[in-house]
Amino acid sequence: MAADQRQTIVTLDLEGVLVPEIWIAVAERTGVEALKRTTRDEPDYDVLMRGRLAILDEHGLRLPDIAAVIAELEPMAGARQFLDELRSRTQVLILSDTFEQFAHPLMRQLAWPTLLCHRLVIDHDDRVVDYRLRQPDQKRRAVEALHGLNYRVLAAGDSYNDIAMLQSADVGVLFRSPAKVQREFPHLPAIETYDDLLALLVAEL
Ligand SMILES: [Mg+2]
Repeated sequence: MAADQRQTIVTLDLEGVLVPEIWIAVAERTGVEALKRTTRDEPDYDVLMRGRLAILDEHGLRLPDIAAVIAELEPMAGARQFLDELRSRTQVLILSDTFEQFAHPLMRQLAWPTLLCHRLVIDHDDRVVDYRLRQPDQKRRAVEALHGLNYRVLAAGDSYNDIAMLQSADVGVLFRSPAKVQREFPHLPAIETYDDLLALLVAEL
């Protein structure tokens, strides 16, 4: 039992931690290579997203086409068991920069955990015409909001968009993070297996 008497809650990133990278999977399964660009290739997120929407349009890919591709994806091996076990011990929030419409088929396979993310704008013809970030820097702000609710926050994520969340949490860990990220943030523990992540989180409850 930690000396801190606050109740503890866990925030987890989604893509790269529980499920594969969704845009990469859509690129692979539709054969549209241009969709493989990520924030590592184009650091300006708005430019990246506008590009993705233009590519979808150019290839006539509407939301049902993309949803069908995503529905064939599965969570990473062991993710469901890890999450079930963790949720039997404490409350868990998934904080993701994906969109509700993309996450939906994957959330079913994870038994509908609570997810805070963004939303795509879909027109009457099921075309993806725009996107709406619910708020900028939402992962960090969620952790701050949980602190405001008097929770102690444990967080795990794999990439640059998680760093603010990991650093504002009481305990932040990198999970299956690229070596480059681990080198840049050596003070964050780097964990590779669900067993080790579960053990670390449970020990902090
Ligand atoms: Mg991620």
